[in-house]
Amino acid sequence: MTLTREQIQDRTTAISMGTEAFINGAYCAASDGSTFETVNPATGETLCGVSHCKGEDVDLAVRAARRSFNDGSWSRAAPEHRKEVLLKLSGLVRENATDLAVLESLDSGKTITDCQDEIGGEVADFFQWYGELADKSFGKIAPTGEDALALIVKEPAGVVGLVLPWNFPLLMAAWKLAPALAAGCSCIIKPAEQTPLTALRLAELAREAGVPDGVLNVLPGLGETTGQAIGRHPDIDIVSFTGSTEVGGYFLRYAGESNLKVIGLEMGGKSPFIVLDDADLDDDLIEHAATSAFWNGGQNCSANMRQLVDARIADSYLEKVVDRAKAYKVGDPLDPDTDIGAMVTEEHMERVTGYIDKGASEGANQLTGGAREGRGYFVEPTVFSGLTPDMTIAREEIFGPVLGVLPVKDMDDALHIASDSEYGLHATVFTRDIDRALHMAHRLPCGTVSVNGFSEGDIKTPFGGYRQSGSLSRDNGTEAMQQYLQTKTIWISRGSAA
Ligand code: NAP
Ligand code: MG
Repeated sequence: MTLTREQIQDRTTAISMGTEAFINGAYCAASDGSTFETVNPATGETLCGVSHCKGEDVDLAVRAARRSFNDGSWSRAAPEHRKEVLLKLSGLVRENATDLAVLESLDSGKTITDCQDEIGGEVADFFQWYGELADKSFGKIAPTGEDALALIVKEPAGVVGLVLPWNFPLLMAAWKLAPALAAGCSCIIKPAEQTPLTALRLAELAREAGVPDGVLNVLPGLGETTGQAIGRHPDIDIVSFTGSTEVGGYFLRYAGESNLKVIGLEMGGKSPFIVLDDADLDDDLIEHAATSAFWNGGQNCSANMRQLVDARIADSYLEKVVDRAKAYKVGDPLDPDTDIGAMVTEEHMERVTGYIDKGASEGANQLTGGAREGRGYFVEPTVFSGLTPDMTIAREEIFGPVLGVLPVKDMDDALHIASDSEYGLHATVFTRDIDRALHMAHRLPCGTVSVNGFSEGDIKTPFGGYRQSGSLSRDNGTEAMQQYLQTKTIWISRGSAA
């Protein structure tokens, strides 16, 4: 449903904001009664105080999750039942998509249009897709001959912690929760402190759909308290984390210093957008170039900020990209015509503008963009020319609407520069030559390569990073389900035969 700015404004006053933690099927205050504030980044105003869960609350949630896992109400339920509940949850997300989108936009500064697309589309689709998968996953029988029967079966891994970032709050929750629930795990979500509201609302919908008490717990809080308590808890079997590479490293340490829980990591990136000399510099390509850098205000782990363009076409490319960047409408996230909303916090906006200043001071040419004066945390799409591979803005993740063009000599030069990164999440290649496309796709050291279009794949295709962008685990596709399952062999010896 397309709503006008006025109708959306009306929803902002009508929707209720759940502010308490969700533990064992009920909302509750934090044990010590403490709260933290979540802010609307478009205005800088506080939206509400939210329960700040500490170790004691994590402990309560883990006990509820373990109890539910052991009683089998979800972990051993018929797969058809898990499917039915997840399909119902998908339907409830679709029914409530507008209010969830308004809540998400208010809490995160993302545009209402993106929030509606994500929540009414992908988030609901995730619960549907993994619900459907729940009763279509088969085990194996090993080739033993007649002496034995060896079954290789998958079992839910247990109690899992899902620690989330703020850039796609409910979408990242769905990416992890849907396969974890489909697998039969009991879950503890820690949303990012900047964006806790939609995950808290999702808990209520899950309860309504029939997810048993204790199977889904949502613990809002801060990284150093709630996040760390999850990372160090001795009775959590797996943590699946999306966020920065620095904090991903902390989770490995927490695991090493506690119970050696399995850690799945999806982290940062510095992904290249490569344009070879034979590419058509048409509107389609320029649209992909701009989207890859500016979508979600560049607050995207696979943002293609580093644009490696053949030097022979770089000038004409820059001219078109700058024109496109200037056409973006930045501002009120609740206006359906807005393309880019607010940066998530003031601190983050300053981090982004700090990188823009650094780009200029290290010798790149800023052709357009920069911070916007006034209320709220807004940055205009920013384009640099004259990037060199050693510049800070060519190496570090900016996580804002910044695009830099780095001219390259040829395909080998592009491959060399693209590969020279500690990250390895994503790359885009534009060329009309399928042999060159495949040559690049096979050699680029990253988890996703998209050819002749910026795409992260979809629900069916695994997503994750090489190098310091990720661990071996993957979100999305049937691979995501494997994160939340363990493998058991059941070896049945044949008795002396009749
Ligand atoms: P972040 O600071 O690493 O936070 C991610 C989560 O970890 C938050 O819930 C955070 O809590 C928690 N956390 C922070 N410090 C912690 C600590 N000391 N111990 C335990 N938990 C802690 O990342 P972010 O700023 O929210 O998100 C941006 C990053 O996510 C970017 O680097 C981006 O590339 C990455 N990202 C990756 C993917 C992917 O799939 N690869 C997708 C989206 C984003 P608080 O909210 O309280 O800090
Ligand atoms: Mg907020």
